[in-house]
Amino acid sequence: NVRVRFAPSPTGPLHIGGVRTALYNYLFAKKHGGDFILRIEDTDQNRYVEGAEKYIIDSLNWCNIPYDEGPGKEKDCGPYRQSERKSLYKAYADKLIESGNAYYAFDSAEDLDKHRKSHEAEGKTFIYNWHNREKLDNSLALPEEQVKKRIENGEHYVVRFKSPKDEILKISDEIRGNMEIDTNILDDKVLYKSDGMPTYHLANIVDDHLMKISHVIRGEEWLPSLALHFMLYRAFGWAAPKFAHLPLILKPQGKGKLSKRDGDKLGFPVFPLQWKDPESGEISAGYREDGYFPEAVTNMLAFLGWNPGTEQEFFSLEELTKAFDLKRVHKGGAKFDPEKTKWFQQHYLQEADNNFIAEQFLDILKKKEIEATKEYTKHVIELVKERAIFIEDIWEQGFYFFTSPTSYYPKNTKKAWEEDTHLLMTELIEVIQGIENFKANIIAEKVKSWITAKEIGFGKIMQPYRISLVGSLQGADLFEISEAIGKHETIARIKKANE
Ligand code: GLU
Repeated sequence: NVRVRFAPSPTGPLHIGGVRTALYNYLFAKKHGGDFILRIEDTDQNRYVEGAEKYIIDSLNWCNIPYDEGPGKEKDCGPYRQSERKSLYKAYADKLIESGNAYYAFDSAEDLDKHRKSHEAEGKTFIYNWHNREKLDNSLALPEEQVKKRIENGEHYVVRFKSPKDEILKISDEIRGNMEIDTNILDDKVLYKSDGMPTYHLANIVDDHLMKISHVIRGEEWLPSLALHFMLYRAFGWAAPKFAHLPLILKPQGKGKLSKRDGDKLGFPVFPLQWKDPESGEISAGYREDGYFPEAVTNMLAFLGWNPGTEQEFFSLEELTKAFDLKRVHKGGAKFDPEKTKWFQQHYLQEADNNFIAEQFLDILKKKEIEATKEYTKHVIELVKERAIFIEDIWEQGFYFFTSPTSYYPKNTKKAWEEDTHLLMTELIEVIQGIENFKANIIAEKVKSWITAKEIGFGKIMQPYRISLVGSLQGADLFEISEAIGKHETIARIKKANE
């Protein structure tokens, strides 16, 4: 039974790297008919940020990758916030002490710092494991009675994992294959503190076990913890889940990991939703507020580390679910390409239902105090959407369907009005005036045959005609514009430009 989890710490807004981790977990779960669990890893209270959990949940919902179990969707394995599970971890730390896999340590931060420095002075790295543990202040170096007394006296302690000496761990990762890790380089990591809080490592392993997680799919930054996690499962006598570490997401220039600060620096969002920092009030851009569709974002993210092995580039979530395979996730870092997201967005805008776009665009019009019917707006969208990436672009591409131009470009338009243009435009008005059935194809036919009969170049008419309606040489089909705005408005605009 496939059960995967996304286990963010609510320390701030979810970076798109986190969203990708969630997406891959979701796809893997759905592909195998399994469950996707959200677990909030909030044991580090110093790093807790107000609003971050809600942000995480809102982001998953916006991306259409809802979780099956988690906060607000309690099932058998809850609660799903580690802060609400606090009381259960100590027993597991005790278990490891009893079995000889962990021990108490009393060293102060200052003492450890001293050891680190004295090692450094000799050109060595200080590792808290068999190399040094006998010389330090812990239960392996002290008589049992003393240890007991110090604990009873309320002295601060930590519980450390006792990593083995001279062992080569053979660990396999679904993406990276087989790895060998020498235990002699591993620190005896802290698992539990006397303040009653487990560290990430202990809580994470205990919860993955209790929540019956079958596959741990997470970012590469957790690879250095894998050896410890592997040893923890072994020490508990539990079967370990399968592990898959996803490649880093790199800056667009390719060098270095994409950071939370890159978005504002480079002018593109690195967050799914806008985020307002509760302390500084600073706002970071989000894909949703910048007008992207979630389909574009998930399609882009799916390709950041995975490819289907075919030419197909556009994938709905459903198609992704079918095609996704951990075996096709690569090891190398994935370069983030903001332009590619725009390209996906353009595609999904073209695919989107025009009713939906019209509803959104009507809100934009309302803000500009422009009234239009939904039918009319939909028709405009059909005519200009090809040129738009975001719903907002429809204004730039088609404002002239809603309002007459207030300026004319090129600036020298009046010079483009050659000597005979005034007269020709007056004649054009007459031709247009005479068209009964004011439909684009009929307007086209009448105007074109008039131009042909006059034996003049098309540009001589079409350019000033277009400038009159649009204000520039851009825009949709001229006859479609004329039909849409109507005979009266078409004539009024030509008159005004011809003044
Ligand atoms: N709480 C960790 C994080 O913030 C979870 C890492 C894991 O998936 O094991 O990413």
